[in-house]
Amino acid sequence: MWIAKDVASLREYRAKAHGRVALVPTMGALHDGHVSLIKRAHEIGHTVIVSLFVNPTQFAPHEDLEKYPRPFEADVKKCLDAGVDGLFAPTVDAMYPPEVVGCDVNVPELAQVLEGASRPTHFAGVCRVVAKLFNMVKPHAACFGMKDYQQLTILRAMVEDLAFDIQIEACPTIREDDGLAMSSRNVYLEGDQRQHALGLSKALKEAVQMVHTGESDPAIIQQVMKQVMQAHHVAVDYAVIRHAHTLRELDNIDISLSGSIVALVAGKVGNVRLIDNMVIKATP
Ligand code: AMP
Repeated sequence: MWIAKDVASLREYRAKAHGRVALVPTMGALHDGHVSLIKRAHEIGHTVIVSLFVNPTQFAPHEDLEKYPRPFEADVKKCLDAGVDGLFAPTVDAMYPPEVVGCDVNVPELAQVLEGASRPTHFAGVCRVVAKLFNMVKPHAACFGMKDYQQLTILRAMVEDLAFDIQIEACPTIREDDGLAMSSRNVYLEGDQRQHALGLSKALKEAVQMVHTGESDPAIIQQVMKQVMQAHHVAVDYAVIRHAHTLRELDNIDISLSGSIVALVAGKVGNVRLIDNMVIKATP
């Protein structure tokens, strides 16, 4: 497995890559959710490249950029074990050379709601770094987790509008046995907080159940989701039902819109902000 830390070396390795190249962009601190993306990348590509980069432009000044976990050696081992062909782990200066004038990449219509309401600059940072990674790595396909549902929706829109010739592969959310969605930020959860964090997935399961048993009023479901989270001591940021493609609000829920409804939640457990979602299908 090669490791490139600057763009010139990445391009040398990339030039020798064979067949279809599948990219898995990550911020490191790899867990089984990331590994599932790597597995999918092996299925859809001949060469799998993982990027490891804690992207400063997607963090607001008060967020956890400095303390975000960076277990580089453990990440390298996980990539080796998962049969990754190449690792791109650039420095901040390699990604954002200080002498280069920066560029805005954004999908404002989708980036201001939900996560964007409390993190207004977040998705512009994500779009910019992913666009840069696409131009540096030149993959044929890229794998993203449904765990970050809004991010996936925004990146699909970016790829479509900017005509990147790249297949975007959506991969299901990997969970712990008790339902907690795997996340690099779960390592921050201490003591009872680990139990409290279950409030997110339990609220989503409740929403799925309510839709399947015929509840058609999103406001009622949203209220219940909120209550479930609060009962688990989660400070609710949002608990909503949205159209799965547009992320717009729904007046009422028609289950025949199979797969077109998504329940999304965000909240803080102590100081740890967590997100989760479930797409609601017609049949349980
Ligand atoms: P991150 O390192 O948090 O930026 O995530 C890198 C990629 O892994 C993103 O596409 C995430 O959506 C995806 N990912 C993170 N957690 C999970 C999970 N529990 N299941 C599936 N994919 C995930």
